[in-house]
Amino acid sequence: MILYRGSLKSCNYHCSYCPFSKHGMTQKELEQDQEQWFAFVRRMQIQAEASGTHAVMITPYGEALIHEWYWEGLAGLSRLSGIKAAGAQTNLGFSVSWAAGIFEKHGGNAKKLRLWATFHPEMTTVDAFAGACGQLAAAGIQISAGAVGVPENIDLLRQLRRQLPSDIYVWINRMDGLGRAYTEKEIQAFSQLDPYFYRELQVHPANAKECTQRLFTEGDGRLRMCNISTVLRSAQEREADVCGRKRCSCYLAYGGRNNLVNQMLFGPWPLFRIPRRPKAVFIDIVGTLYAKGEISKEVREALYVLSLKEKSLLFFATTLPYNEARKRCGPVWHLFSGGVFAGGAHLLYRGTQTDLMQQMQKESFYFMEEAIVKK
Ligand code: SF4
Repeated sequence: MILYRGSLKSCNYHCSYCPFSKHGMTQKELEQDQEQWFAFVRRMQIQAEASGTHAVMITPYGEALIHEWYWEGLAGLSRLSGIKAAGAQTNLGFSVSWAAGIFEKHGGNAKKLRLWATFHPEMTTVDAFAGACGQLAAAGIQISAGAVGVPENIDLLRQLRRQLPSDIYVWINRMDGLGRAYTEKEIQAFSQLDPYFYRELQVHPANAKECTQRLFTEGDGRLRMCNISTVLRSAQEREADVCGRKRCSCYLAYGGRNNLVNQMLFGPWPLFRIPRRPKAVFIDIVGTLYAKGEISKEVREALYVLSLKEKSLLFFATTLPYNEARKRCGPVWHLFSGGVFAGGAHLLYRGTQTDLMQQMQKESFYFMEEAIVKK
């Protein structure tokens, strides 16, 4: 996945805390941003397939999607067969029908479009923002919506949750600059809105080994491993996992790491922040769930959210026999509805709580033919 940030530094909104709200751009600077973006899109047209790039997200300073050229470029990217997802972070401060018109005119594939929409209570209303989200979702566009976790805005964010279509995930970002820790009550309120809010409160020690599947590029061609890591001076530096950070301090950083939790919760391109919400998940044990002699706390928490809040059915898919699987996965065993054990020789469906009460458990064994065993 590639994240792209052009030289754009201006915005249609003027939030009090944001430096880009005060930054105007001359016509010439805007033209330069446009040229850089189209040059990037052309490079993708030539190189995306060979370089193994499957997804692109624009993470601008300011707001990109009020400019026609970004929609034209996104349409171009979405037409490429190797690109499976293309999108942007946005404040949705544009007319949906205007944007759809440009995207369609340039042959864009809306199925591949992904938007990370941020609600700015200072600049827009819940009605307007939720209305735009609803319009986009009705057009089949995948979208996530959220805001900074400002304690004073809890009621407003609850209202936003109520007004959004229920399948749109609402994320909450930890508020930097709050000047104090969140209270238990605030944590509870934000966690009710965003089941993954706990991840915002965790410390994520940097581990650049997990960052080889994603690149961050700027309009002038400078590369980083992620949005907060140091500029790479050569391809070798990337190989050497140079990131220059102790912590992955925001979702764009930790959420893009190539690890089990991100993939499990958000699929192959977790940075769009759109949960996968699968009906069922089959997870291998050795080296996946169970690594370094245990199931990590991070993985356990993700399994809890998946099964209890997202209501996905969890299954093991393992070469281990049942008893050994049970021994290793004791702490999370109750979250699983069964599994494929012993490499497929033993299938078990324990079912949901209701199924258990109705004795709906199903179990099958597949035995090797005697002739094969004797050999
Ligand atoms: S700071 Fe960025 S590059 Fe470094 S480990 Fe975290 S996500 Fe990876």
